[in-house]
Amino acid sequence: MPQPRQGGSPVPGVQGIPAARPADAPAGLLDRYGRRATDMRLSLTDKCNLRCTYCMPAEGLEWLAKQAVMSAEEIVRIVRVGVDLLGVRELRLTGGEPLVRADLIDIIAALRQAHPDLPISMTTNGVGLDKKAAALKAAGLTRINVSLDSLHKETFAKLTRRPFLDRVLAGVDAAWAAGLGPVKLNAVLMRGINDAESPSLLAWALDRGYELRFIEQMPLDADHGWTRRNMITAAEIRELLSADYVLSRDPRARDGAPAERFEVRRRAAGSAEPEGPVLGTVGIIASVTEPFCSDCRRTRITAEGKIMSCLFSREEFDLLGFLRAGASDQELAERWQDAMWVKPKAHGMDHVGLDAPDFVQPDRSMSAIGG
Ligand code: SAM
Ligand code: SF4
Repeated sequence: MPQPRQGGSPVPGVQGIPAARPADAPAGLLDRYGRRATDMRLSLTDKCNLRCTYCMPAEGLEWLAKQAVMSAEEIVRIVRVGVDLLGVRELRLTGGEPLVRADLIDIIAALRQAHPDLPISMTTNGVGLDKKAAALKAAGLTRINVSLDSLHKETFAKLTRRPFLDRVLAGVDAAWAAGLGPVKLNAVLMRGINDAESPSLLAWALDRGYELRFIEQMPLDADHGWTRRNMITAAEIRELLSADYVLSRDPRARDGAPAERFEVRRRAAGSAEPEGPVLGTVGIIASVTEPFCSDCRRTRITAEGKIMSCLFSREEFDLLGFLRAGASDQELAERWQDAMWVKPKAHGMDHVGLDAPDFVQPDRSMSAIGG
C-alpha cells in the first residue's frame, strides 16, 4: 500500500485562525472551523473477504502485519481516551471487514464493560453474521449496518467478486432476530450494474422494516476507477426511486447524520402524487454532490492506529506508535486534538469535474481507512 504523508508537516493557517492548536483551545476534538467531533469511526482490520469493485482490487491489497494492527487492549485504551477525555459520544466499528477479526466479540465485551452507556454500532458486509449476531448482541453491540448492493446473485457476485449473497441475507435476518436493530442497509449504486435495481431494493427493505441508505460512490477505490461522470448522484437516486415512490424530507432533525432521510410513500398509478401511508424511510448519503462537511462530527482511527480527521485528509497522525512509546492518556488526548484541529474545511469533491487537476484521490482506499 502506498504510504500516505505523516502528520507533523506544516499545515496552512486560515485567515485569522492559527495553524497550530492554541494552548487555550477548548476541550474536546475541536477544529479550526468550530466543528466538534463526537462520533468515532474505528477500523478493526484492513482485511476483507469481499472485493467490492468500488473499494478493493480483485487481488486484494497487501495486508498489514499483525503487529502493526491495534491489539484489543490498545483499542480499548484509545476508545477510553476518546470517551473519557475528549467527548466522544458514539462509536462505530468498521474495517476492512470487522467480522474477520477473531477477537471481535472480546473487543466489544471489553468496550461495553468500560462504557456501559456508549452507543456502539458496527458496519459489516454481513458474511458470517448469521453465526455471530447473537454473540455480538450478548457482548454489548448496540446495532448494526450491513452493506447490501443487490438482491440478485449474479449482480451481487459481479459487484463484490464473491458469490455470497445468501450468506449476507442470512446475516441481515440474524442481526434483526438477535435484536441488533434498527438494521440499516448500505448500498452503493454503480451505473449499468445495480442502479436500475434501486426501487426493488427499497421495496425489499421497506417490507422487512430495514432502513436502506444509498451512498454516492466516492473516489476511494484502490483501482482508481471512479469518475465524476460515471458515479450515480443523489439527484439521480431520487429520480430512480420516483418511478415507484414519492419521497418527502423526513421532518426529524438531521443532527449531524451523513444520510439525508426521506419518508417514502407509494406513487399513485399514472400520477406524481403519493397514495397510502408512509411505508418507512430511505437515506441518501450524498458525500460527493451534496456534501455535509460543515456539520461533520467524525474522527477516524485506522486499523494501525492513525488518526484521520477526514476520509480525504492527506495528513495522518500516528496515535498507536505514540501509545506504544509510552505516552500517557493526557498526551494521547493532546495528539488527537492536534490532529483534529487541522481537519480540512471540506473535501472539495463536489465542484471538481472529471478531469479537474485540483482533486487528488487519497492514497488509501476505503477499506484501508475504515468506512
Ligand atoms: N466491510 C464492511 C462493509 O462493507 O460494510 C465495512 C467497511 S466498508 C469500507 C464501509 C462502507 O463503505 C460500506 O458500506 C461500503 O459500501 C462503503 N464504501 C466502500 N467503498 C466506497 C466508495 N468508494 N464510495 C462509497 N462508499 C464506499
Ligand atoms: Fe470489503 Fe467493505 Fe470494501 Fe466491500 S466495501 S471490499 S466488504 S471493506
